[in-house]
Amino acid sequence: MKLLVVAVAAGLVMAGGVLLLAPVAILAATVASPSGEVGEASGALAADGTAGGPGPVGDVACPIGRPHHFTDTWGAPRSGGRTHKGVDIFADTGVPLYAYRAGTVRLTSSRLGGISLWITSEGGDRYYYAHLAGYAPGVRTGSRVEAGDLVGFNGNTGNARATPPHLHWEVHPGGGPAVNPTPYAAAACRGATP
Ligand SMILES: [Zn+2]
Repeated sequence: MKLLVVAVAAGLVMAGGVLLLAPVAILAATVASPSGEVGEASGALAADGTAGGPGPVGDVACPIGRPHHFTDTWGAPRSGGRTHKGVDIFADTGVPLYAYRAGTVRLTSSRLGGISLWITSEGGDRYYYAHLAGYAPGVRTGSRVEAGDLVGFNGNTGNARATPPHLHWEVHPGGGPAVNPTPYAAAACRGATP
């Protein structure tokens, strides 16, 4: 009788193990799916167990994985008499994009921005991500994210379709006008650019 109880308990543990493992396998398969080029970045994520970027710095994280590069092009002329209101962070298509800060996601799309999203912090600061190849699985309008959470993948949608893939990233303190985001990116991504 005692042996039987042990055997049943072992069976439950096995079943529990299978139940726990199954969602992990599904998640891993989903993360790697948006494009063939994502595979390498996803492998790096799994291998070192970090977010792939430099990781959160204080309460912020670099909005894009490595390798990437950017320069300060704030205010540079753009089509239609516009000036550049962001920083263009260049990286391969499919490189993961991360929440810069904790907040709430809103998915958008437009002719200029292509597949894009906003993250609004609890204090009302807003961060704009444009030209994505796609969103991370499970991320939708209203999703709560923490700094460093995967939100999407780098691309060149919208008016970036004829340019090398890059993340156009904007910072709007208090939800107001954009400010030069280059120092924000430089601080959060330090060490990420060779
Ligand atoms: Zn830009």
